[in-house]
Order: sequence, then C-alpha cells, then structure tokens
Amino acid sequence: MAKGERTSGYFNEKRETMPPEERWDSLNGKLRGVVTYAYDNSHAVKHKLDKAQVRPQEIETIDDLQRLPITTKSDLVEMQKSSPPFGGFEGVPIKKMRRIYVLPGLIYEPGEWEYRDTRWAEALYASGFRAGDIAQNTFNYQMWPFAFMLDDSLKMLGCTTIAAGAGNTQMQVQIMHHLKVTGYVGTPSFLMSIAERAGGMGYDLKKDFSLQVGFVGAEMLPESLRERLEGNLGITIRQCYGTVDVGCLGYECIEKEGMHIPDDVIVEIVDPDTGSRLPLGATGEIVATNFNPTFPMIRYGTGDLSFLSEDPCPCGRTSMRLMKILGRTDQVTKVRGMFIHPWQTDELVAKYPEVDKYQVVVTRSGYLDEMTFRIELVDESIDKALLKGRLERDIQDTLNLKGEVEFVGRGVIFDMHQKIKDERKWE
Ligand SMILES: [Zn+2]
Repeated sequence: MAKGERTSGYFNEKRETMPPEERWDSLNGKLRGVVTYAYDNSHAVKHKLDKAQVRPQEIETIDDLQRLPITTKSDLVEMQKSSPPFGGFEGVPIKKMRRIYVLPGLIYEPGEWEYRDTRWAEALYASGFRAGDIAQNTFNYQMWPFAFMLDDSLKMLGCTTIAAGAGNTQMQVQIMHHLKVTGYVGTPSFLMSIAERAGGMGYDLKKDFSLQVGFVGAEMLPESLRERLEGNLGITIRQCYGTVDVGCLGYECIEKEGMHIPDDVIVEIVDPDTGSRLPLGATGEIVATNFNPTFPMIRYGTGDLSFLSEDPCPCGRTSMRLMKILGRTDQVTKVRGMFIHPWQTDELVAKYPEVDKYQVVVTRSGYLDEMTFRIELVDESIDKALLKGRLERDIQDTLNLKGEVEFVGRGVIFDMHQKIKDERKWE
C-alpha cells in the first residue's frame, strides 16, 4: 500500500509518538485549563460542578474527573429547551461564533471562529492523506458541522478540498474523474454507490480514477464492505470515530488494529450504570472530555460501548486505542433484574463458529421473565444437543441468568439490528 507509507512533514508527528507518561502530564495540564475556563464561561459546566459540589481547582488530574457526573445527549437537549439556544453549554458569546450548526431535532451547536482542533487532521493523516491531495468531501455541508470540521482539517494538512456535499451520485463520479481526485471523504456506503454508478457509466474503476485513499465515518464499516471497496477501487480505506458534540475520538492507522485516540481529548471507558471508570480491557461506555473553549464538553457520554488497549501499535503511535465499537448503552434490557447488553450476548455467541445468527427473545411466563437464545446454525447436521448444553452453561456463567437455546431454521431471524427482542407484555 504505497499511499499509507507516504511520508511528509506533519505538524503533529512528534506528539503522536511521545511516551505515554508525557501525554498524561500534558492532558492533565490541558484538563485543568479547560475546567477552569469552562467553569467561568459556560453556565452548564458551572452548574454541573456546583451540583456535584466540586470546585474547579479540585479537578487536577484525569482521575479526579470521576467526581463529576456524565452529561448525556438527552441532558443537552433538556438544557437547550430550558435555556435556549445552547443550554448554557457555549463557552463564548454568540458574536464570537463563526457558525451556529443545527442538528436534527433543532439542537444548536456553537462553531468556533478559528478552527484549531487538530484531531480530525491527525485522523486524516493516519488514513494516508497528505499535502497535495485533492479531496472530495461528500459529507453534508448543510447545517451540520462535520463537513466543515473535515474541510478545515484538510486545509491544515495542505490538501485541496472539493466541497461536494452529499448526494448527486452521477455528478460525484464526474467530479472525481475530471478533477483527478486522490482522496475520498464520506460514508462507506456512499463510496460504494459512487463506485457502482461509475461502473454503470462505463468507467474502469482503477484506470479512469486517481483515487488512492478513502476516509470514512458516520456509519459502521463492515470488513466485507472495506474489502470490496479496497479491492474494486484499488485504494486504502480507513475509518474514524467521533461525535459532532465532542469531535474526533478515534481513528485507524495503516495497521487497522483498533482506533487510536487523538492527542487533544480525554477518553474514559466507564460503567454505564455507575459512571465509574473501568480498568483497561473492560467493556463500557465511551466518555469524552474535550478542550474546545467554544463548546467545552466535560465528561460527555457518547452512549457507545467499547474497550481500550494500550498495547504498542506497530505504526509507532503511542496512544491508546478503542478496539471496537460494540453497540449502544441504550439497547440494554433488564431480565430478572439483571441488565443484558447486546455486546455481552455478542461476545458470548462470537465464541461459537457453529452459530450463524442469533437473537435473544425475552418473554414472560406467569410473573417470571424467560430468556431464549434463538440460533441459526451454519451447518444443520452438527450435534445440536451438545452445542445446546455448552451454550446454556456459558449463558448461565456469563450473564448470571438461565437461558434456553432454541435452534431455528435459516431465515427465521431477519431483524439483525435487534439483538435482544423484548416480547414481554405488561398488562
Ligand atoms: Zn497504529
């Protein structure tokens, strides 16, 4: 992969390979700065600290953050309703905002006058973007902040950007061809649409285009889709992870072994039920603290589940990595008083190559919850009784609950988005 190996001067390269202790020191220093600033300038942050009876000077290190509650998207929405338009989350007056972004549900987000956040640039660089690239940015430039953040970040790297925006597939194909675009920025599914349309228009995907790298995000990237895109287009595809409220929280490097946490952010993995920090390797909610004075977020809960690794990455970056996004905290179901998360059932079932698909169904028998794992097998001829016994023991051990295994025919499980189906009736 020639593109991934390209090297050129980059403003951030030294920081990405700094020893981890040095990074913690630097993050702690930035944390003290942002907490003090946000306490003085953001009503929402002041309210949060006051309510937790914590003075800003008491947040000295990342460990102290645990004294503060987690702010969720619904907190943001509620506070914007009671204190419009920003819910007190803004850290500067309106006249110091370059843009005001509008998210679905009429949520307002302040945009900084000068975009200085280097995290998306760091991510783009890791995916292979370099100075001189011609980037086609197909994220939506209307109301939403993400396209602008990437636009500014491409500028930081020295790339030329086409503000293509979303949609108009046929035009996107022509633009990509005429302007000899070298880098795609957008969702993986839209790149697939562009590739399919280009094929339909009679283009040779490898010969007629100059595309070398793809930077994708905003939706899941199944490995099968990555392989198809990389193979058909002859390019490298790397993905990023983040939210528009807290910015970039992870990006893949050339090694694609999880997502590196960028330098200018604090990412914690916490127990979604208690908010306390979990040890390395344990699965929990991704909670982020950024250093954006215009829109400071202190302990913002993304609702996404993952786990961290600090194993060294062959690419040389010394940051920790988010290993995989495992689902959402709000998909939790309570069975006989125990919380069952889809990531738990995913992990459990992933150990059995015999299983093709599964779905957990929760029902009521009298006053008791019953949990059934419906399973479609890869090969129907295996010893089902043996597998049933192994799975049921594993369910009991892993979830601390009794669950029954029921084998169903191919095609019975069709709704793959709903891993845990609640069929209890409460009348
Ligand atoms: Zn790496």
